[in-house]
Amino acid sequence: MVVLKFGGTSVGKPERMKKIAELVLGTPGKKIVVLSALSGTTNALVAIGDNLLAGQKAKAEEETVALEKHYQTFIKELYGSESFHAIGQEIVSRFFIFIRMLAAGKFDNKGYRELLAQGELISTELFYQHLQERKISARLLPALYFMSIDENDEPELEKISERLKPLVNSLTNVDIIITQGYICRNNRNEIDNLKRGGSDYTASLIGAAIRAQEIQIWTDIDGMHNNDPRIVKKTVPISELTFDEASELAYFGAKILHPSTIVPAQKYNVPVRLKNTMDEKAPGTIITGKGSSIGSFKAIAAKDGITAINIRSSRMLMAYGFLRRVFEVFENHKTSIDMITTSEVAVSLTIDNSTHLTSIENELNKFGTIEVDKDQTIICIVGQKITEQKGVLKQIFDSLSEIPVRMVSCGGSTNNVSVLVEKQYKEKALNALNEGLFGLK
Ligand code: ASP
Ligand code: MG
Repeated sequence: MVVLKFGGTSVGKPERMKKIAELVLGTPGKKIVVLSALSGTTNALVAIGDNLLAGQKAKAEEETVALEKHYQTFIKELYGSESFHAIGQEIVSRFFIFIRMLAAGKFDNKGYRELLAQGELISTELFYQHLQERKISARLLPALYFMSIDENDEPELEKISERLKPLVNSLTNVDIIITQGYICRNNRNEIDNLKRGGSDYTASLIGAAIRAQEIQIWTDIDGMHNNDPRIVKKTVPISELTFDEASELAYFGAKILHPSTIVPAQKYNVPVRLKNTMDEKAPGTIITGKGSSIGSFKAIAAKDGITAINIRSSRMLMAYGFLRRVFEVFENHKTSIDMITTSEVAVSLTIDNSTHLTSIENELNKFGTIEVDKDQTIICIVGQKITEQKGVLKQIFDSLSEIPVRMVSCGGSTNNVSVLVEKQYKEKALNALNEGLFGLK
């Protein structure tokens, strides 16, 4: 069985939604099709939800009207016959009555999450009815029947698997099973989600849960590129990546994949293929457990919004237990650390979530002098076993010779070297590395 996931832009226009029906039909065997919300919908729902939480009901209603109009136009083009127009109309009215009902009541975080779930619920229904109109046999399997997260918001892969396998097996005479990306139930049994961009994660969790042959993530770009195409002019798609390489790239900013996507697939060794809906013939990127081109640079990714914290203390000199106490402060504030470097009297580390920065700083103050630098960018250079090669660091630092580097991390894994620079140098650094490591200008 294959899992096919289509993102927001792949379903965002009626003609694209029709196109993915073709892609699904062109895929042999039984498959699970995971859909995102139509592009722009989740952003619109977030805006509506924010306004409702802020008590701005009129503003929320204005945005709801605009979103509803968008769907009215969408169904007009999606369905060909009068009877399916009527079905589309019924779906849209039902969803918007529900959204207005959520808005009318006491709106809290629970209502907010229910609101966010509507995007995927409506896109899958509209697609299902599109297949019905074309007399293509398919089934809708609600993600809320099997997808769940625990009290730490972590997906419960084994439980998901236990629920999903019998559900899928019971659907014997149908080849196309459609489900929602992104949405799930939490440990209070409420509707929740896997965070923004989470549909990729859904696809990977499903692929791992049913031990699929392959997980295909269909987007609007021809695979993972060697550098950020929004910042660097010339980039090339990478044909093969290992799970480890892809994980690092997704985590450190490659926007094409939700950062946790690779984890479940890697656990059960299910290959992940990135494909382009706009250009289905393009080879895309295949991510597997097997390495290729060992020792060469594969790709560069950058992650913004990083805060660097430096703790300087003479008490650190030859002391043990110091780092544990420092780490405990971050643990207590549920803040994860990305990069870390130490000298004998100081330690520098980075975080990407600065929600609790003030309290963290206050607590760290007791250890010594604290310095905080905001607006930093981590640049992550990835390639299997690159750190074992001679001259790799020289090549990286020669490329970055014009850029002040704040921190360096190398040796944590053999697959990556990370450097921290001020955000203002990001563009220059990515371009310099593109030229220095890949000869691309
Ligand atoms: N619709 C959700 C979002 O926009 C999930 C996804 O598209 O992956 O974040
Ligand atoms: Mg996405």
